[in-house]
Amino acid sequence: MAVSLRMTGLQHNEIKKHVLTKDGKEAATLLFCQPVFRNFDVLLLVKKIEHIPYEVCAVRTKNYLSWPTEKILLPKIEKLEREGLSLVMLHSHPNGFPEFSQTDNENDLNILERLVSNIDGDQPHGSAIMLPDGEIKGRTLDENNCFIPMKKVLVAGDQIHIYLDKKIDCVKHMPGFMQKNSQIYGSKIINYFRSLRIGIVGCSGTGSPMIELCMRYNVGELVLVDPDIVEEDNLNRLVLSRLVDAKNRVPKVEVYEKWQAESGLPTKVYTFKEIVPSENTIEALSKCDIIFGCVDNVVARHSLNKITCAYLIPYFDLGVGVKMDNKTPQNLHQATVRCHYIQPDQSCLLDREAFSAERLADENHQRDDPEFYKILKEAGYTGNNEEVQAVMVFTMEAAALGMDDLKARLLCYRVDSNKDFDQQERSFTHGYYEHCSHSTKNVALRNFIATGDNHKKL
Ligand SMILES: [Zn+2]
Repeated sequence: MAVSLRMTGLQHNEIKKHVLTKDGKEAATLLFCQPVFRNFDVLLLVKKIEHIPYEVCAVRTKNYLSWPTEKILLPKIEKLEREGLSLVMLHSHPNGFPEFSQTDNENDLNILERLVSNIDGDQPHGSAIMLPDGEIKGRTLDENNCFIPMKKVLVAGDQIHIYLDKKIDCVKHMPGFMQKNSQIYGSKIINYFRSLRIGIVGCSGTGSPMIELCMRYNVGELVLVDPDIVEEDNLNRLVLSRLVDAKNRVPKVEVYEKWQAESGLPTKVYTFKEIVPSENTIEALSKCDIIFGCVDNVVARHSLNKITCAYLIPYFDLGVGVKMDNKTPQNLHQATVRCHYIQPDQSCLLDREAFSAERLADENHQRDDPEFYKILKEAGYTGNNEEVQAVMVFTMEAAALGMDDLKARLLCYRVDSNKDFDQQERSFTHGYYEHCSHSTKNVALRNFIATGDNHKKL
């Protein structure tokens, strides 16, 4: 069993604020996590944080902490059992000691053993330490009472932190093409990208150059989702698509699966010729560390936003807007590309009015009941959703904006704060590049946050 922990940037900051104090003494907090079971993997999504007050600790020094575990934990057992939650006890090592100490081992084993035997359910429980720079190392107790290090800790915030278990955090042999990327971004980027599982939803104009970028950065695993086949009129913007693919009605995802195999590059590709959301795509996307939404309809964008809130995944929503002149329809009036970066507990696409609730309802009708939609449309009750198909310069620029945003959030190389890049927009017709922050809390999808598979019932 491999366990990973996920939390939002706001949660990470809240934990840091409590356990890394000015007095330099250790402190502790409890993380209540929603478990998500996937074959041999378990994702723990931080749902609630409860700090251990400094004043109840019997001893607090720079390298030792003692708090009344029984008194604090006993009343929590019922909640953990009733809601099927996992508990992770986190404390800080302000002196920077990067491992669990011998005392930690003895104490954690003693407490966790009792927790596991007292709480019904398959969910794992564990402990974690936080180092002065905010890095988190976690572990869970298995059925043989052995500690299993957490494979990955992901923080979906303004900065995306990925803390890896040491064993997979090493590059033994680096081929030349990887060294080239590390010359600009440092060797960190190689570890980050090799450890990532990225979902690309929509493998058309924007999705196909995104696949190419991910392969060239040697992303570990790609989940490609697209229900469509290659058609002749896609050939103006689908990277690597051929006329023969259109003639043979080859699914788009298959083109890229085949290309990956031919390229010899190390990325593993999993493909789904399905729409989002479906049982299979939710399962595959929930395991992704990052999702790029490269779709052209608001129903899919809203669904992806729900999935990323439910499973605490950083989400990049990419879009291209092309408007023709009303009076002279052959003339391009406006062409913009846009990248929204969405954090699970910060404003969602609907909160940002990236699309309207009316448009969403409209497209839902169109998808669920095409006949009824036709009647509505004829009666003039629907919006005008006729859009001009984008061309390749625009779609490639959208993919580049998204990939650059991901790299900047992993490596923090921007002069300005990543916070100021929640929305980026470039106009090809009006000559501007703008970026801004959207730092309000998630309202429209707040009930979805960290719900895991339970979000399907909402
Ligand atoms: Zn410790």
